[in-house]
Amino acid sequence: MIAQQIKTAIRDIPDFPKPGIIFKDITPILKDPALCDGILDAFIAQLGDTKVDVVAGVESRGFLFGLSLAQRLGVPFVPVRKAGKLPYERKKKVYELEYGTATIEMHTDAFEPGQHVLIHDDLLATGGTVTAASELIQEMGGVVAGFSFVVALGFLNGRQKIAPISDKIWVLAD
Ligand code: IMP
Repeated sequence: MIAQQIKTAIRDIPDFPKPGIIFKDITPILKDPALCDGILDAFIAQLGDTKVDVVAGVESRGFLFGLSLAQRLGVPFVPVRKAGKLPYERKKKVYELEYGTATIEMHTDAFEPGQHVLIHDDLLATGGTVTAASELIQEMGGVVAGFSFVVALGFLNGRQKIAPISDKIWVLAD
């Protein structure tokens, strides 16, 4: 089944990007077109008839399946990017990291107020990034349609963090 295929494909990289961190490298998934198709099929099946007007993918690995998912759904894809990357008019959100802060941005014309925006990323860790994305989307008048991830690191309790924002959380492997 898809969860096992994803877990088998992902490789653990110790001490990346810093000592003590075990990084989940998803790039082997991308080398397997059948698995990529299976991932999209699984997301589409899980989403069912959930209302999604726009898919927002989080930089940078959220772009990989985010765009494909939007195409499968027949809706626009919009990027959520780190500060200073987007060229047009932007709205930003500053959020707390363990040490310091980070900033994400979206184009002001990414979606219309009232539209239902699915937030997609490759991996859910603490949930800090997608929480910031959801706050930004809500400040811009959007409705969070839910969250989708290829994989979640359960021990970091990201699901608990984002559950109050939306109970629609789709994770293919955790
Ligand atoms: P969070 O904000 O703590 O949930 O971190 C999630 C973000 O960090 C996502 O954009 C992920 O792509 C990235 N990330 C954190 N840990 C890993 C990892 O082990 N592998 C791949 N991406 C990771």
